[in-house]
Parts: sequence; structure tokens; C-alpha cells
Amino acid sequence: MSFLLGPLRKHIPGFKELTDHNEILNIETPKEIAIPLMAMGSTNLELYVKEGDRVLVNQKIAARNDHFVIPLFSPVSGTVTGFKDEFHGWGGRKSKHIVIENDNQYEAVAPTPLDYVSASKDEIIEHIKEMGIVGCGGAGFPAYLKYKPMTETPYLIINAVECEPYITQDYRNVNDYLEDLVNGVHILRKAGNVQKTLVAIKEDKKQTIARLKEAFGGFSDIEVVGVPNVYPMGWERTLVFELLKKRYDRLPSEIGAVVNNATTAIMVSRAFRLGVPITEKMITVSGDGIKEPRNVLAKIGTPIGDIVEACGGTTDENVHVIHGGPMMGKTMLSKNVTINFTSNALTVLIERKVDAIGCLRCAACVDNCPAGLIPVKIQDAEIAKNLDMIEKLDTNACIECGLCTYVCPSKIDVTENMRRAKNALRLRKG
Ligand code: SF4
Ligand code: SF4
Repeated sequence: MSFLLGPLRKHIPGFKELTDHNEILNIETPKEIAIPLMAMGSTNLELYVKEGDRVLVNQKIAARNDHFVIPLFSPVSGTVTGFKDEFHGWGGRKSKHIVIENDNQYEAVAPTPLDYVSASKDEIIEHIKEMGIVGCGGAGFPAYLKYKPMTETPYLIINAVECEPYITQDYRNVNDYLEDLVNGVHILRKAGNVQKTLVAIKEDKKQTIARLKEAFGGFSDIEVVGVPNVYPMGWERTLVFELLKKRYDRLPSEIGAVVNNATTAIMVSRAFRLGVPITEKMITVSGDGIKEPRNVLAKIGTPIGDIVEACGGTTDENVHVIHGGPMMGKTMLSKNVTINFTSNALTVLIERKVDAIGCLRCAACVDNCPAGLIPVKIQDAEIAKNLDMIEKLDTNACIECGLCTYVCPSKIDVTENMRRAKNALRLRKG
């Protein structure tokens, strides 16, 4: 990964007003849910249930158990009716899903709350692991792993920046569950033996900043920091540089920092206060292709088609439904794709035919790349299938943020070409 950072000066329209104050809709849980048996790209999961088994709410049904431990839990009570192959929210090919028939009884396993005040650092980390708390900012990285190697953490950064257009679910979570956010931050401070905590949010969110400052007011080692409204300020690397003026190679822990998304901190609080894992997500459903943009609460395993319908359906026959935001999300090929534990948005956009023209060599993609890359040259190398050049140009440092496509006056999907170039490198490594 590159040590370089690009200029990071692009303000892009947010369209946040479409959803940031609308009433939150509870999506009715369907009769049948399907949970992808996948965690951080791996389908090598251990199964704890089989066809015909009755399961309860919050029961562990599967887990990735290699160098990452990521358990999956049932959001409903009912019967495992089987398994099916289906597309999933991370894009790519179909993968195995576990299918559960919902009996609408919501009979749950006994919750396992934990008092973090009396718990040790190790007990706290173990509880975060057992509850399957993963990064809610999109990557789904297991939260416990960030704290396990840290005997002491100079900086904990709580990321409430939410820089992708349309998405407001972090904003709503922070405002609607402020007490849980505060509780979660205190738990994470103890998990990491943290010296200084920085809660980062866009500087134009003045009212929320005031509420956060009041909520954390009694703690001199917790600071609420407003950051510029530019994209992709929420990317971990740029946020760390903005706050600490430090760069790192692979992980922020190299410079003594741990970064957690604000919603992740809220989920951590619930895992301790209520003793429950993540089985439901707040999802922003927005874009010019949806009739009633809003935030919704949906159980994991709910099909995206149901959610689109619950938001009034689409404004046009031809729309793209993107899992995530318009810059970094993936267009879904089926309305049967279901919500998973990393889902945070569905962006529904009217399809518009775009006629790309030849590259103008204007370097707008170079000027705006936050990873400090030369996208136009990588694109040339990809077209020429020059793998050595693709590697030399540090293509794997691309975070697929979408900015190069966004700024390209020729309407070239430069980001897609970056993905292809990265894929070519992956295939060469085998
Ligand atoms: S998607 Fe484009 S702008 Fe974003 S990091 Fe990759 S090359 Fe740079
Ligand atoms: S922004 Fe588009 S037109 Fe300009 S150099 Fe990059 S790829 Fe070419």
C-alpha cells in the first residue's frame, strides 16, 4: 500500500437532505430470510445448524474461524429450510446462503450482557469477538482484532464522517442513539487502554457537533473534531492523516491509532448493555430512482427488493440498485440480494446512457486521486495488458473510491478500469 496521499480537495454534492430527517421505517421481516454464508470475502465458514433445525433469535448459526473469527447469528426464530446459491451484496458470483423460515415468534436465546466497568480489558475484547461485532463502515473487519494487539492505544478515532453521497444512516444512528455511542466509546477506550479519543464528524454538522461535545464534555481526553466536507474524508487513511498528520503503511496501529466507525461503537454498546449481536441494520435508501427516500431498519437476510417496495418502489422502470453509496457501492444484479451485516445503504439511481469519448489526457483523475495514483497511466497499462507496469504504478493502493470516474470529462469509467487492473494482478499471483 502506498504511503502517499493525494490532494483530497473534492467536495461533491451530498444529497443528504433527502433522508437525514425523515421518519425511520421498520421493514416487515419476510416469511423467509436468506443469509449469505460469507465473511470478509471468505466462504469457508463452519456451520452450526443443518436443514430442519429450529433456530432462535441471536443463535449462532455459522462462523468464519480462521485468522478472523466472525460469527453469524439468526435474526429470527424459525426453521432452517435449506441452502441456496444467490448473489450477495459484495458483488461478484453467487454464493451459498442459509435459508430460514421465520415463524414470527421471535423466541430468543438468553442475552449475555457484560458490565464493562468490572470486566478486564481481555474480557471486553473476548466479548466483542463472541458477539461478532464487525466494522459497520462497510469493510466488516472484526472489531476485536483491532484491540487485541494493543497493550496501549495512543489514539482512538471514532469515524462519524460518512462521506459518500446520499448515505445518512451513521448520522441518524449518532443522533438517535447518542447514549449508546457514548457508552460504546467508553467500552472501546477500555478495550484499547486508550490515551486520547477523537470523535470525527463533518464540520458542517453543527448541531450534532454541539450534542457530541455536550455528551463527552466531562472527559478531557475525548475531543470532538469537525473535519472538512470533502470526499473521501471518511476513508481511514485520509482521516488519520487529517487528525494526526501521520501516514502508515498497512494499518493505523503502526502509528498507535485504532479507528472505529461510530455505528460500530453503538453496536458494541448494545452487545454489552443488552447482550445481543448485530442482527438488524439501519439502511439509507435514497437516490433519484426511489419514490420515498428514507432510513429503514431491516433484519439481516431481508431481500433488497422488499426494501425498495417498502419505500414506495422506483421512480422509473430502468434503475440501478446499488448496495452502498454511488461512489464505492456495487450495482446489484438481483432483487433477491439480501441485507448482510456490512450493509449500510441502497442507492437507487435512474439509468442514464453515458457515451464515453476518448481520454483527453487532462489529468483530472490524477489531480483528484486521494491515493496519490496516476489512474490514466494505470488505465493505459491495463488496456495494453502490461502487468509489470500495473504493478509498478502501485495499482493495489487504489481504494476504488470512484473519484476518477466522477471527475473524468470524457465519462470514462476509470474506476472500473482500476478494478480490472487490480484483478489482473490478483490473477497473476494466483
Ligand atoms: S478509484 Fe480512482 S481516484 Fe479512487 S483511489 Fe482508485 S484510482 Fe484513485
Ligand atoms: S480524467 Fe479521464 S480524460 Fe482526463 S486523463 Fe483521466 S481518464 Fe483521461
